[in-house]
Amino acid sequence: MKAARENGVPCQFIGWGSNLLVSDKGIPGLVIRLRGEFESVSFEGGQLRAGAGVFLPNLVKLCSDRGLGGVEPLVGVPGTVGGALVMNAGTRELEIGDVVKTVEVLDLQGNLELLRPKDLEFGYRRSSLEGRVICFATLELRPKDRDDITRTIQKLLEQRLKTQPVGSQNVGSIFKNPKGDFAARLIERAGFKGRRVGGAEVSAKHANFIVNAGGATAADVRALISAIQEAVQKMSGVLLETEIKMIGKWP
Ligand SMILES: Cc1cc2nc3c(=O)[nH]c(=O)nc-3n(C[C@H](O)[C@H](O)[C@H](O)COP(=O)(O)OP(=O)(O)OC[C@H]3O[C@@H](n4cnc5c(N)ncnc54)[C@H](O)[C@@H]3O)c2cc1C
Repeated sequence: MKAARENGVPCQFIGWGSNLLVSDKGIPGLVIRLRGEFESVSFEGGQLRAGAGVFLPNLVKLCSDRGLGGVEPLVGVPGTVGGALVMNAGTRELEIGDVVKTVEVLDLQGNLELLRPKDLEFGYRRSSLEGRVICFATLELRPKDRDDITRTIQKLLEQRLKTQPVGSQNVGSIFKNPKGDFAARLIERAGFKGRRVGGAEVSAKHANFIVNAGGATAADVRALISAIQEAVQKMSGVLLETEIKMIGKWP
């Protein structure tokens, strides 16, 4: 990173990429995904310390094996600890920000800086960690019956299977829900369920998902996003804000 900074090369950190729409023109500079040591998890008392590269479903499974609960709703979020902290990922039941104790980020000199809850701000699919390099985090857990955890996890995954286009290529919810409403309801009302631009299609199962129905380019997805925003705004006056991040070099 120091060499990149000295040479004016931009650095783009990514996690699992499950919330990213990457330009067809690629990403200039370095793309960095934290692996190796950053995929490790250790437990101490009721807390765990996880690297930013740890895959959330694996983390939930490790907690469940130890009879530690509190993070079950993250089991269906296909991202890493780092990506989840930037996005304050979660569900109606829990967002990762609710259980964060500390976050270790890299400062400009390349040293680890320890951030505590008073230094952190989490909102709906946003956090003050955006733009920082996240390396490790500690999360607070609580002892819970293992069978209970397993049952909760199964229920949550079954619910997803019923309501989301699991198994297709997608980036999860495209838009944030506007205050007091649901993006999917507005998109469906605007007649966009099943609508296509090139290979990008609004999922017939969940209107806030765009799936790659075959050969979709990032430009197709972006054009479909713009068309939805325009139609929903015309119909209801609501401008849907994207939850996904569009990264790379866009025309
Ligand atoms: C099928 C499906 C279901 C989903 N369900 C949910 C859900 O229920 N709830 C929810 O909140 N989200 C959901 N998502 C969206 C996505 O999984 C989450 O936003 C997740 O937290 C993204 O994590 P990631 O590791 O993939 O991050 P990425 O998508 O790779 O990156 C997201 C952001 O984090 C930054 N970032 C990642 N790692 C680091 C790091 N170490 N340091 C600094 N910055 C970093 C990236 O630069 C980017 O800005 C879903 C996605 C899919 C495909």
